[in-house]
Amino acid sequence: MKRVGAHVSIAGGVENAPLNAQKIGAKAFAMFTRNQRQWHSAPLSAASIEAFRRNCEDAGFLPEHILPHDSYLINLGAPEPEKLEKSRKAFITEMKRTEALSLTMLNFHPGSHLKLTDEDTCLKTIAESVNLSLDATAEVTAVIENTAGQGTNLGWQFEHLARIIELVEDKSRVGVCLDTCHLFASGYDLRTPEAFDATLAEFDRVVGLSYLRGMHLNDAKQKLGSRVDRHACIGEGMIGREAFVHLMQHPAIEEIPLILETPNSESWAEEIEMLYSFTKE
Ligand SMILES: [Zn+2]
Ligand SMILES: [Zn+2]
Repeated sequence: MKRVGAHVSIAGGVENAPLNAQKIGAKAFAMFTRNQRQWHSAPLSAASIEAFRRNCEDAGFLPEHILPHDSYLINLGAPEPEKLEKSRKAFITEMKRTEALSLTMLNFHPGSHLKLTDEDTCLKTIAESVNLSLDATAEVTAVIENTAGQGTNLGWQFEHLARIIELVEDKSRVGVCLDTCHLFASGYDLRTPEAFDATLAEFDRVVGLSYLRGMHLNDAKQKLGSRVDRHACIGEGMIGREAFVHLMQHPAIEEIPLILETPNSESWAEEIEMLYSFTKE
């Protein structure tokens, strides 16, 4: 079945995420494992961990339907040694928090070269960061998100994702999350069933569909190939409704978290309901 959800709030504690997801009719969810705007945060308390697990169990969320997202401050490809060190430490902390919550995936944006180094050196640095984080944990899979290619962010071409995976030692613990807005912004068309399937076939050819662990469902405010990361509500952007109808009926996209990061959290319950109605069209 399709597992649609949204990136829900952890205000008041991570244990509130599954409750927030349940309230909007979600069958999957994303969350931060800590305050994403700060480098440091207090460790998760045993009570919070216990409540999180219980709330997930009560609501029927399995680890493979929950896709935590790392802090936006982290740059695992940082060309400056101190920033790289800080980012790697913070990422490992988040991988450990993910593991402490009995979750199995952590979604991250690959990184930026900031014009201080070349693309391939940056991709190698990112892969090495992933290797270090996998060594420091036992169960969690590092899930690379494709980006819109804004600024010097890497990960907007499937070749970037493939290169990182190629350099990751434990291939069983690396995966990909495809964001529909980022795909479109970076030049991969999704608007018609034919274009959508061609993009997915290209992903399968370059990266491999077996690496797909989740998707972010966002329409796009800017045109195809804009390299601008601006999310729109489903059906209200340049990608359009037809792509999401096709996605919701796609046999290759089953049992992975499909996470809304659309601008209006007030409308998530409606958007989830609408997406489920697409399965019956
Ligand atoms: Zn995303
Ligand atoms: Zn985005």
